[in-house]
Amino acid sequence: MPGTPEPPVVNEAPDVAAGLRAVRARIERAARACGRAPESVALLAVAKGHPPAALAAAHAAGQRRFGESYLQEALAKREALSGLEAEWHFIGPIQSNKAKRIAAHFDWVHSLDRPELAERLHRHRPEALAPLEVCIQVNVSGEASKRGVAPEKAAALAEVVAGLSRLRLRGLMAIPAPERDPRRQRIPFAALRALLEDLRTRGHTGLDTLSMGMSADLEAAVAEGATIVRVGTAIFGPRPLRRRAPPSG
Ligand SMILES: *Cc1c(COP(=O)(O)O)cnc(C)c1O
Repeated sequence: MPGTPEPPVVNEAPDVAAGLRAVRARIERAARACGRAPESVALLAVAKGHPPAALAAAHAAGQRRFGESYLQEALAKREALSGLEAEWHFIGPIQSNKAKRIAAHFDWVHSLDRPELAERLHRHRPEALAPLEVCIQVNVSGEASKRGVAPEKAAALAEVVAGLSRLRLRGLMAIPAPERDPRRQRIPFAALRALLEDLRTRGHTGLDTLSMGMSADLEAAVAEGATIVRVGTAIFGPRPLRRRAPPSG
């Protein structure tokens, strides 16, 4: 084909490299629009529901950070891709009985939402590995259906995490309620950013991470200071394996 036309979105076989290029361009534009360096925003490729081949395609296109929400699926993919240099982030809800394997197989956890889970991750983080990088998930939209600690409980949880040597508290994560208006999208992201500032003034000076922004709202998140955006659909296309919240991980 002449030139480099944008490929059509094909559900079964989306062009992962093209998706990545498009998302990187969105991040770059959003960062420049608010005077930020594009490199200050890390892209986490969220491949949940997509087969190992999709991750391999992303890896071949230079992507190294991957996010997964379901433990069994993530472990199967890691197995299939063993040997590939990559950083693995767990971003889904965590049942306590999954903590041990998550502590052993991931570099980051974005979805820490309770003290008891922090203790478990700490206890099970293998000595041979660096401390687990963690973000506290905060429920900034105040919806009962969403995971995360209430904003007013984040400081107490941060204190717990700070006291655990096998965890390294990096920042905060949020999944706000879907919102189409780009200006309104910024409201919960601004709240998360303010909360991070508050934790810093309480002595958690090492916090440097705001994990926020997905396919539909990454520009708003970057404008409010996101340092990690978690993007699935815009890279990999619609998820072929639709599933509900996991009873079995
Ligand atoms: C699936 C998922 C994403 C990616 O969502 P898209 O809308 O597909 O970009 C980001 N964060 C979390 C926690 C997810 O579960």
